[in-house]
Amino acid sequence: MIKNRIILNLGLLALLLASCQSTPTQDVSVQFTAAFETAVAQISQPTTTVAPIDTPVPTATIVRTPPALPQIFQTTILKPEDLPRTYEADTCNYLQNKWNPNNAAPGTVVMVIMFHGISKETPDNVNGISVNDFKKLTNDLFSMGFQAINMQQMADFMYSNAKIPPRSVLLIVDDRHFAEYFNDHFRPLYEQWGWPVVNAYIGLDERTDLWAENAALSAEGWVDYQGHGYIHNTPIGNSSTDEFITAEMNGAITSLQKYMNKTPIAYIWPGGGFSARAVELGTQLGYKLGFTVNPRGPVMYNWIPQADTVSQSNTFAIPETPAGNPLMTLPRYWAPSARNDLDNVRQIGEQATLYAEQNKTTELEYYEIVCAPTYGAIPTLP
Ligand SMILES: [Zn+2]
Repeated sequence: MIKNRIILNLGLLALLLASCQSTPTQDVSVQFTAAFETAVAQISQPTTTVAPIDTPVPTATIVRTPPALPQIFQTTILKPEDLPRTYEADTCNYLQNKWNPNNAAPGTVVMVIMFHGISKETPDNVNGISVNDFKKLTNDLFSMGFQAINMQQMADFMYSNAKIPPRSVLLIVDDRHFAEYFNDHFRPLYEQWGWPVVNAYIGLDERTDLWAENAALSAEGWVDYQGHGYIHNTPIGNSSTDEFITAEMNGAITSLQKYMNKTPIAYIWPGGGFSARAVELGTQLGYKLGFTVNPRGPVMYNWIPQADTVSQSNTFAIPETPAGNPLMTLPRYWAPSARNDLDNVRQIGEQATLYAEQNKTTELEYYEIVCAPTYGAIPTLP
């Protein structure tokens, strides 16, 4: 009887060890040998107290402990104060979106670029870019494999990791322009490569011809109009009243609905000004995304660089984390200097892809243990 009992215990031990898939083979055999020797030693010791033989042997319940999840991907390419932040509170939802093979591949990156004037001569202000530099920038983007997306694609990507090109660019033109501006500079990109452009449009306008021209472009579909204030000229700040914030943010919605039969889903903060209260009111109004003028880096699914405080390297940039919603305070590169960052964006995407691959097994094991019972298995390709 004693012998049978020990064999049973060894059997249990073997079962438990076998369930420990992540333990290297060599360790398993060492542990097993040690356990076996201990068991044999017990047999040969006549003084060993033996449990009463009528004690029922408990059923072996294998409780799998979920592995610790990796930290958020970090890169030294960004400035130390521009720390990437997550925003998806539901870990299981995040992991399912991340590893669903129908979605964007991990490491998919979006470079958001802000445009103002595009002039034939050398621009006379810090926002502007010459026609020549515009062509260089967009040609470089294309030759490095970037593809432009529109705002709905951006929202679907940021919220649920919907598939977009692995290197995406979101081109956002600020303020009002005549149709000529888009026809001269952006229509060729649309015709050659199918690239859309976003226009952050100001709601208030007395010029019906301007509205008509832009409404016609909106109807064509490749100029994607989004909210950029109603009066626009006073940036929102911590001292802005609810009335002012609502008039600006809701005014942009009603104007676009009236003139373009379209409801904006993004708000491009005029003058780069925002506040926690404006972020809160804006989301209540239906905005899904907001954009600053802070060139902190590219964005990825559940990964947005944000600063906690004003930093010496970037004193004009309002810190985003106090506003409490990374999705409403997305960074933007500036057109005049964006070319300098193309390779950084490419490298960040590649580093993130590698980091995701390194952690795939761990994250899928976690998902299987913790998430799959309630969220179901991760979808497969159709
Ligand atoms: Zn503006």
